Amino acid sequence: MVADRLNALEEENERLRARLKELTEEVGRNDSLFRKTQERELELLRAGSLAQLLDRLIHGLRQSYQLDAVTLVLHDPQHDIRHLLSGDGLLLEELEGVCFVDALATAAPQTASLERPWLGPFRVADHELLLPGIAGVGSIALIPLPRQEQLDGVLVFFSADPQRFTRDLASDFLAHLGMVSAICIENAVNRARLVRSGLTDFLTGFHNRRYLHARLREELARAQRARQPVACLMIDIDHFKRINDRYGHLAGDAVLREVAQRIDAQMRVSDTGARFGGDEFAIVLPQGGVGDGERVAARVLDAVRVQPVPIGGQATEAVTLSIGVASAAPDQGTRDYKATADRLIAEADAALYRAKTAGRNRIVASKNVVR
Ligand code: GH3
Ligand code: MG
Repeated sequence: MVADRLNALEEENERLRARLKELTEEVGRNDSLFRKTQERELELLRAGSLAQLLDRLIHGLRQSYQLDAVTLVLHDPQHDIRHLLSGDGLLLEELEGVCFVDALATAAPQTASLERPWLGPFRVADHELLLPGIAGVGSIALIPLPRQEQLDGVLVFFSADPQRFTRDLASDFLAHLGMVSAICIENAVNRARLVRSGLTDFLTGFHNRRYLHARLREELARAQRARQPVACLMIDIDHFKRINDRYGHLAGDAVLREVAQRIDAQMRVSDTGARFGGDEFAIVLPQGGVGDGERVAARVLDAVRVQPVPIGGQATEAVTLSIGVASAAPDQGTRDYKATADRLIAEADAALYRAKTAGRNRIVASKNVVR
């Protein structure tokens, strides 16, 4: 009897030991998962830009959780996020793993009303659009990125292992990761918007004077290293006041927008254009001498004057420009790029003034090279 009870107790003891070992291991696993998640979340919070954040979400998470793929479906009905990214010079097609949708349901029907992470088997019919062309996925996790009443998007983890994401797996840490990711995305988008609005002209969407000045200083430093010139064009609409006076302020605005677009169409990707203020625009041509500046100026002048500009309704108005061109080739000793930028702009402005007084609708280039 006693021996039997002893045996039973020993068995019980063994079972409990095994269970304790299991639990300790689980705590260890959870603890390391928790720490890893915390580190990851800090990385996301520290991302300096929207592009960097997206990279950390897609590649960073894939690496640290050893996943086979991560994708991010972003709800972007106004195409805001896309504009912000392409405004930063990013090619959207090269943003691997990020998919922008006007409505979440288009990517996967179940994502539209996701309240908690959904873990389970990968089903081609339901999940194919989350990662087009993928094969060999065993299980996935759909992690909602919540924002007040709606979703900002869904983060999707893919694993070849069918047991990796199963419905009974604790998903609290994934829910938390989703919340942190959503906050990070919102912050990065807001930050990008602010930076953009500080450097962009509201009316034309062109860069503003502040941005142009900053770029010009950078280009002067680069030109100095490369021993190459930089050209600057100052462009002003002739008798613009007459358009405002005759057709009103809104028609004037439409002309400013159209002129900005026509100028933009004549620039190379490496050139920087800006609305300098009022009816004045500027272009900076890196690696351009005064001759290059004159060639671009001739194209801009024609792009505007050859075709009358629509001013609302059926009406159009012939618009001409006056353009001043100047160039700079900073001396090797120059360090004050701000002063050089100011002098280059003043030189181009003086040439523009000469074009105005000589009768407008023309280009005047300065022969002085700013040093
Ligand atoms: P000029 O040939 O000498 O350049 O003659 P102008 O009439 O173009 O003279 P100026 O460049 O001095 O006039 C610019 C006008 O642009 C004055 C201002 O009322 C108008 N303006 C400035 N900003 C805006 C704007 O955002 N919208 C509109 N519609 N008009 C603007
Ligand atoms: Mg003018």
